Amino acid sequence: MNRIELLAPAGNLEKLKTAIDFGADAVYLGGNKLNLRAAADNFTIEQLKEGLEYAHSRGRKVHVTLNVIPHDEDLVGVEEYLRELYEVGVDAVLIADPGIMSIVKEVVPELEIHLSTQANNLNYKSALFWHKVGVSRVVAAREMSLEDLKKLRKELPETCEIEAFVHGSMCACYSGKCLLSTYITGRDANRGTCTQPCRFKYHLFEEGETGDYQKITEGDNTVNLMSSKDLCMIEHIPELIEAGINSLKIEGRIKSSYYVASVVKAYREAIDKYMEDPKNYKFNPKWMEEIQKPSHRPYTTGFYFDEKIRQSYESSAYIQNYDMVGIVKDYNKETYVATIQQRNKVNNGDFVEVLAIKGDNKFTKVEDMRKENGEVIESANIPQMIFTVQCHDELKVGDILVKRKDI
Ligand code: SF4
Repeated sequence: MNRIELLAPAGNLEKLKTAIDFGADAVYLGGNKLNLRAAADNFTIEQLKEGLEYAHSRGRKVHVTLNVIPHDEDLVGVEEYLRELYEVGVDAVLIADPGIMSIVKEVVPELEIHLSTQANNLNYKSALFWHKVGVSRVVAAREMSLEDLKKLRKELPETCEIEAFVHGSMCACYSGKCLLSTYITGRDANRGTCTQPCRFKYHLFEEGETGDYQKITEGDNTVNLMSSKDLCMIEHIPELIEAGINSLKIEGRIKSSYYVASVVKAYREAIDKYMEDPKNYKFNPKWMEEIQKPSHRPYTTGFYFDEKIRQSYESSAYIQNYDMVGIVKDYNKETYVATIQQRNKVNNGDFVEVLAIKGDNKFTKVEDMRKENGEVIESANIPQMIFTVQCHDELKVGDILVKRKDI
């Protein structure tokens, strides 16, 4: 059986390194042009070079998104940008628009092209068309079912890979093909600046036959008909692999490093467990427990099994039970001193959980907290500050410390 790719979002350099450390085979990211996550930090060419070096030296890949639906003015400078991407060694670009595709073919014909989900590929004929004109991988529209994906695999030649979203936020419309944000705020989802008005709270009134108005409510006196639950397919890894999908994709370029670490780790372990011994594979509930911890909405399997599924969520709020409080930058095995970079406030004496790059999570007490200069402190309360703690359990660079919000 071929090794299946686990593809993770990299909203910035730290998240790229986290995704790779925690087990992603490849990451996707946006540069400074034509990408659909204008709100992510996005990469300069220098950061991209560093990210590529980090990924390639560990045998992993980097895909760059150019997946907006562009107007003419968006195309200014694309040729030069593509040459830069090619020269620094990106592994593939994701496009959604035939215009951008034609520029890629003209300027950097050797560069691998993947068709973004924004192109809304829903059928094998469409995928075959894109493959014939030079796409080596099709990202399936999120609205395809598992049966649709199996059929797609059957109809496509082996030279055309299939990538499918398995985890993360979903749109109530066809991914990105949505004008709600443009209508309400003037910011275009199709050009990377969606303000997510599908998550706003609305008041809805139905006009009755006699001209009276009946308020329609859900839960908290508002309606959230358009706010989708989050996709989660962690319980269905065997079906996804057996359907012939080549790359399992996690959404979330504007989510935290903690989200990236815990989701990548859970899917990595599930995939590896299955690949090790498909016949005796058993789902481990700890994977689901882990991905419940960072910020998320209630989970759904989306369109995979039942396209009539009630995708909308009666609220728009995230569920967030844990905060990432720091990331390990160094560990001295002789003195047991760990150097941590702060992410959220943590106090001396707090109990924290260590999301380890490899192996089970550990629990530890934050003890002997000090500034870098050795000064004793009771709290790390400055964003990104470096501090040290004593920890007799060995920590690894890149391990993430998290704390339950209610303690
Ligand atoms: S408004 Fe909501 S449904 Fe529309 S593109 Fe933005 S996130 Fe997706």
